[in-house]
Amino acid sequence: MNLVTELSEVKNYINGKFERNGQSLMDVFNPSDGNKISSIPMSTKQDVDKAVQAAKKAFPNWSGMTFKERVQIFFRYRSLLEKNMDELTKIVQLENGKTYGEAQAEVLKSMELCEFAVSIPQIIVNEVQEVSKGVECRIERKPLGVVASITPFNFPNMVPHWTLPNVLVLGNTMVMKPSELVPLSTVRMAELLKEAGLPDGVFNIVNGGKEVVEAICDHPDIEAVSFVGSTKVAKIVYKRATSNLKRCVALGGAKNHLIVLPDANPEMTASNVIASMSGCAGQRCMAASVMVGVDKVQHIIDKMVEEAKKMITGDNLGSVITKEAKERIENYIAEAEKNGAKILLDGRNTTVVGKEGGYYVGPTIIDYVTTDMSVATEEIFGPVISIIRAKDLDEAIAIENASNYGNAAAVFTQSGGLAKQVMDRASAGMIGVNIGVPVPREPFSFGGWNESKFGVGDITGRSSIEFWTQCKKTTIKWNPEAQTNWMS
Ligand code: NAD
Repeated sequence: MNLVTELSEVKNYINGKFERNGQSLMDVFNPSDGNKISSIPMSTKQDVDKAVQAAKKAFPNWSGMTFKERVQIFFRYRSLLEKNMDELTKIVQLENGKTYGEAQAEVLKSMELCEFAVSIPQIIVNEVQEVSKGVECRIERKPLGVVASITPFNFPNMVPHWTLPNVLVLGNTMVMKPSELVPLSTVRMAELLKEAGLPDGVFNIVNGGKEVVEAICDHPDIEAVSFVGSTKVAKIVYKRATSNLKRCVALGGAKNHLIVLPDANPEMTASNVIASMSGCAGQRCMAASVMVGVDKVQHIIDKMVEEAKKMITGDNLGSVITKEAKERIENYIAEAEKNGAKILLDGRNTTVVGKEGGYYVGPTIIDYVTTDMSVATEEIFGPVISIIRAKDLDEAIAIENASNYGNAAAVFTQSGGLAKQVMDRASAGMIGVNIGVPVPREPFSFGGWNESKFGVGDITGRSSIEFWTQCKKTTIKWNPEAQTNWMS
């Protein structure tokens, strides 16, 4: 299959068909060489409504099927992800610019997310109790109806799977709005879902930008909205969706602190910190952004520089998403330098031979960063790590706690007692001990704290079951005695 030809124009997917109306088009580029690869429709409020009506029509039949029937489709879909892994990986690479290995890891994670979804019937066993003589109460989990999912550019295959399998297995129908920068992966997902036997209208895609997101937040027939993206937009979406009386969980940006203590294993720590800051070109919401070095850690910093020099742009370090992103990241580095920080490794002005139009930033390590610098407080979202020196663990934890964000935090040490202090006192939703990217695996749920997440509960795992369902409570009087009331 020639991916560029096959996906040269992305269409909306509504009621089981790809369709393009009169919408204006926006170009989509391959970030690793800057070439145009596709275009997407900039859809309108009317397109959102059309998708919602299709999802609404599909809901009674889909929610009326047994769990077992819905789950069979996701067993087949998971096998199709595996069968088509190479192609799905190449699509992620093409639109996002990450390395083959990183792109493949996304597809593997999507399969794991499907494995959780097919286990949901084993988790949700409804509750029944005899609450008084001959009277029984039961609680059943029921789907909400039509729900929506809005996704970012950095994981074109995995983040849509944070919601899609659980949402559908639980009996909801959905409208997805992928990032306009990476719309290709969802096209293949729709095709594979159809091949797996998903009825038309259960899953719909509306492409576009702000107008689509606003229409989703405003649509009276959408019951719940999930969002993953920057904190700025997460706040807009959370406020707008909840003011329209919808459920909403909105995951935002991050500024993750890795606290390194002098007793940490130097090799393991250096390789973990560098892998965390440079993996997916630093465009992970779980990426290391600040290393807080406690006391004497110069030997570990020296090793980090050695490790980072092994990251070769265009080889084991992919591109960033756009020209604007490259400029933004380089401006952060320049500002830190101007304000007195020391650039130990400088990734500015990086190009890759043969891919001169690509958007590359090399691995960058900035030392002697102070807490007032923008590289200490703002999300950079590139392969850059800022080192802040702290005299002791209390000061290091205070630096972590001062961040507005709270997605992840980690500690590197060989002391259980000191690790436990960070586990207890860090103000973040996901904590790593000697691990740089502490993503919880299924069935543990994914979600941050503070300005890294708005709303109750997490987006994956058991927690998401609560979010995508509502409880129906039924009281039944089996007792035939007319005079006995249900309170007896
Ligand atoms: P983004 O916020 O720019 O875009 C996310 C979605 O919102 C896209 O679908 C986009 O079309 C839409 N959007 C953009 N501007 C909008 C506006 N003004 N009004 C309404 N909708 C709008 O995010 P991005 O650049 O695609 O992704 C990177 C960000 O996502 C980073 O901040 C990263 O930390 C975050 N992220 C967070 C998590 C998490 O789990 N917390 C996971 C992945 C990415």
